[in-house]
Amino acid sequence: MTFERSTSDRMKQAVIEYPKHLGLHIDGEWVTSGRDVHTVLDPATGQSLGALTLAGDEDLDRAIASAELGFRRWRSTAPAARAAILFKAANLLRARTEAIATAATLEQGKPLAESRAEASYVASLVEFYAGEAVRIYGRVLTRPAGARSLVLKEPVGPSVAFCPWNFPILGPARKIAPALAAGCSIILKPAEETPASAIGVAQCFLDAGLPPSVLSLVFGVADRVSARLLSSPIIRKLSFTGSVAVGKHLLRLASGTMKKTTMELGGHAPVLVFEDCDVEGTAASLAAAKFRNAGQVCVSPTRFYVQESVYDRFLNAFLAKAETVRLGPGIEKSTTMGPVANSRRIAAMEHLVADARAAGANLAVGGERGESKGGLFYRPTVLAHVPVAARAMNEEPFGPMALINSFRTVEEALEQANRLPYGLAAFAFTENGRRQLLLQENIECGLLGINTLALSAVDAPFGGVKESGHGSEDGPEGLDAFLVTKTVHQG
Ligand code: NAD
Repeated sequence: MTFERSTSDRMKQAVIEYPKHLGLHIDGEWVTSGRDVHTVLDPATGQSLGALTLAGDEDLDRAIASAELGFRRWRSTAPAARAAILFKAANLLRARTEAIATAATLEQGKPLAESRAEASYVASLVEFYAGEAVRIYGRVLTRPAGARSLVLKEPVGPSVAFCPWNFPILGPARKIAPALAAGCSIILKPAEETPASAIGVAQCFLDAGLPPSVLSLVFGVADRVSARLLSSPIIRKLSFTGSVAVGKHLLRLASGTMKKTTMELGGHAPVLVFEDCDVEGTAASLAAAKFRNAGQVCVSPTRFYVQESVYDRFLNAFLAKAETVRLGPGIEKSTTMGPVANSRRIAAMEHLVADARAAGANLAVGGERGESKGGLFYRPTVLAHVPVAARAMNEEPFGPMALINSFRTVEEALEQANRLPYGLAAFAFTENGRRQLLLQENIECGLLGINTLALSAVDAPFGGVKESGHGSEDGPEGLDAFLVTKTVHQG
């Protein structure tokens, strides 16, 4: 795709590039017909992008059988050979960035620049796990002469993963890459909203030479797919990213056969802003981060607690930045915030805004749909002085909504930050070293950004505590999630 063309030409071209037939990949075969279908919609226009084939029970059973076979084959493949395939997949991901990013923007809505950045991060992540594939170590324990004890790390087994629609390129890669590096086969069910991105990612691994039975891709009626896959004793691992409610449901299903689990669930990130930071600069960076991906980010800054002495300055600077957001189709170059990904998010925003206003919050900006022409646009929204009882202060908004309140003392800020049952991300902005240490030690979260908004790095674990889940993705911990320990005592 060239980018000198006019916007409308670019959009037409992009639509042409979106695959029309989207299907399942089971045991080396693509299935793109003969089943129920789901219509994939462009959230910027409401138009159909393509038809997605959905799996029936027989397909799921074939995927399980294939994963069992694929696991036997893949676990005995030399780690260096696994690494070579992952390196090749990373190269293919780089080469196909434009096509995968375009598909992601069309089906999910985010600006093309964000999709490109996501694809590029994914290539680095796959490269990281290619390197990790040859660094799976155990331990030898010292024993009397003639004896020893060994601690061995082995792949957990055929795995199942479910990933959501908000990061349609990263989600699949975060599951596939560490599973493959560890020596596991995997059945992935990406979100039905964003199949082309997941198919694009999976195709890179297949084209890199992955034995076909090692990776299956299925789509379907979520509850039916998870019930079928998770009831099988052949499947030894579940990795899920999504809402807390669905996470709890899947944990119950996985407990029937005691599968190992990784749960990357929702959050409600508190942001503590102290008077000693660069107030205006911090507000502008936070507003940009808030409206990234229209707020549909599990670590999105959401509940802002600003020290009373700088509250008005912060709010004004935040609003000024919010006013500069250009709402539009993600495929257009001038767009800085796209539509939300599905109509459930519009309904949630409308409900949460109405409830917060009824509770006494001040709507500072937004709080309504954007001009739409059939698209799912919702304006950047800022609510100030939001009562703690408002639903938005307690439920993850997962949309373009900032809730900005004030605090007086650090103790009060900490109490608010830890008030909810979630514990994924938190942020704090302060130059005071002693206070930074206090916050490090006392904020209940899996990811803390101090004077930074960047919480993802390929070599660093990513995950939450409390009801935000357990286990980590990315970093060596992400690999460990697909390994089990065997201790051998030799006498
Ligand atoms: P949802 O709870 O219905 O779905 C969340 C994800 O889980 C989706 O990808 C969906 O395909 C999957 N899912 C749903 N039911 C499932 C089942 N029975 N088996 C397997 N997978 C299943 O909600 P939604 O409307 O898609 O998203 C709304 C909420 O989900 C948000 O408010 C947010 O809290 C959460 N969410 C979190 C993340 C994250 O990165 N942690 C990502 C997307 C959504």
